[in-house]
Amino acid sequence: MTNVARLPGPISDLWDWQRLGSCRGRDSAQFFHPDGERGASRGRREAAAKTVCHSCPVRAKCAAHALITREPYGVWGGFTEAERLRLLESGWEDLADRGRASVDVRRLEMRLGLRPAVPQQRPPATNGASRLMATRNAAAR
Ligand code: SF4
Repeated sequence: MTNVARLPGPISDLWDWQRLGSCRGRDSAQFFHPDGERGASRGRREAAAKTVCHSCPVRAKCAAHALITREPYGVWGGFTEAERLRLLESGWEDLADRGRASVDVRRLEMRLGLRPAVPQQRPPATNGASRLMATRNAAAR
């Protein structure tokens, strides 16, 4: 008997996430640059679009979609065109899930230097007394 569990689901499943995007119903001009846009106005528009993306419930899927399809234009998943190009060059697949339907956007931001890396666990602070005890214990051995 055929195992249908391994067959891809309906094609609509691949796009269903778009119905839940926070940009739905917004002016697409906020996410895609108009002809001739440059400099500060571009930066402001992209920053505003990224703010919408940062609270979007389907951001991880949107970012994965844009990377997998090499979407050339617009802000997708909270990443600008230039940022996605950098991710395509540096690699992003290791931060995607198995089916590449979703990606760890926080770690992608760290990779781009947009978010500080998680600090390493520091050893517990020692005061003078515990250092003295450690020195005495070492000397007693
Ligand atoms: S992450 Fe941004 S571009 Fe993608 S669906 Fe959400 S709001 Fe829209």
